Amino acid sequence: MKELINKLAYTFIFLLVSKLAISQTPKDDLIDISTLSDNFDYDFRYATENNFLKEKVYDCSKCFLRKDVAKNLVKANDSLHKLGYKIKLYDCYRPVSVQKKMWKILPDGRYVANPNKRGSIHNRGGAVDLTIVKLDGTKVEMGTDFDHFGKEAHHNYINLDKQILNNRILLKNTLLYFGFNSIKTEWWHYNYYKSNTYDIVQKDICK
Ligand SMILES: [Zn+2]
Repeated sequence: MKELINKLAYTFIFLLVSKLAISQTPKDDLIDISTLSDNFDYDFRYATENNFLKEKVYDCSKCFLRKDVAKNLVKANDSLHKLGYKIKLYDCYRPVSVQKKMWKILPDGRYVANPNKRGSIHNRGGAVDLTIVKLDGTKVEMGTDFDHFGKEAHHNYINLDKQILNNRILLKNTLLYFGFNSIKTEWWHYNYYKSNTYDIVQKDICK
């Protein structure tokens, strides 16, 4: 009997430890997506003054994401490649130090997530801002520029050319298929479905 109780106790501990191992998200498993694929285009607006803040807030143009997020984004890009398109990245993991700079320039929760509250999913490495371009880099019309704050950027805004709506749908359907969720107000922003399990991380990506 005692042996049986011991066995059950060991099994219980084993299961508990395995469960903890599975459910724990590593604090920092951020990787540079260019180490997985050369097939992305980049337009890091926040590393230039060509953004809604009119100030450069990044010191480099690098796309770091959580490993799972990056792997699935590569799959999404490979699938778009087969249709003659590729992903152009505007923003990926955003260090908390950058979020603070943005908040200092524009302390308005309608445009910038408050770093002193919940921060942004970009600070967790679980969000990405992107568009699609043709394989030769030619622009694909999406109806508004990146970071256009207005109803024209919303997914439910349909007063646009059919081709533009099709372009948005192609991007959205591809990303949804590979585990990303859209948000209502920004056609360019996607959250990985597990992003709310990720911690906010501070990492210097420009070193
Ligand atoms: Zn975003």
